[in-house]
Amino acid sequence: MGGFPKARQYLLSLFKLFFPPACPLCGHTLSNNESDPLCSACLAGFNSLPDAHCPLCSLPFAGTSNSSHLCGRCIAHSPSYAKVYAVGLYDQSLRRAIHQFKFNRKVGLDRSLGKLLDRAVDRYLDIDLVVPVPLHRKRLQQRSYNQALLLARAFARIRKLPVATDLLIKICETEAQQELSAKERAKNLQGVFKLQKEVSESTILLIDDVLTTGATAEACSQVLLAGGAKVVYVAVIGRAP
Ligand SMILES: [Zn+2]
Ligand SMILES: [Zn+2]
Repeated sequence: MGGFPKARQYLLSLFKLFFPPACPLCGHTLSNNESDPLCSACLAGFNSLPDAHCPLCSLPFAGTSNSSHLCGRCIAHSPSYAKVYAVGLYDQSLRRAIHQFKFNRKVGLDRSLGKLLDRAVDRYLDIDLVVPVPLHRKRLQQRSYNQALLLARAFARIRKLPVATDLLIKICETEAQQELSAKERAKNLQGVFKLQKEVSESTILLIDDVLTTGATAEACSQVLLAGGAKVVYVAVIGRAP
């Protein structure tokens, strides 16, 4: 019986010899470390968060000064979520990668981004449930998949956690938020998210692709906390500067 895993290993290495794994972002052959989520050139292109950033919402600070204080926005309006984890800065390469992921789905990219999320989120965080930021039904029909759900699934598979696919829903369609100020965004999102049932899990990790002003995360977090969650953490791929 012991021979079977060996035979499987052999077949697998043979397969890899003829079909070497490729970087899901740029298509280049992944050379050495297969556990790497992307090729080294793609990974090197991403800008990580600077050391100086808000410890709560991860907003990067200009300059390299003391990074232990909260940002102005978190001081003025303390968010309901406990902390934002981010893979990197939402600029240049990471912005392109997220765009590829969002608008022309590339095979395997969700797995790679899930691995990056796994590296970004505190390993000792005791998470009960992973919740993706939902899309409105209409938007889902246009795009055919919810990028946040794909990320949530990829992350949860690595951490062996449950994903709530239909706990939180978006009941109203909202316009594109890019042109709106932080205040307008928050107003735009009032009453937009709803829970389908009560939350029985205490610690929730909310997942989205990008965090800009945090208005979406805040709106979802408030609904989850009101529905029974004790604490909500947020994890995103890109944190807008
Ligand atoms: Zn690459
Ligand atoms: Zn902040």
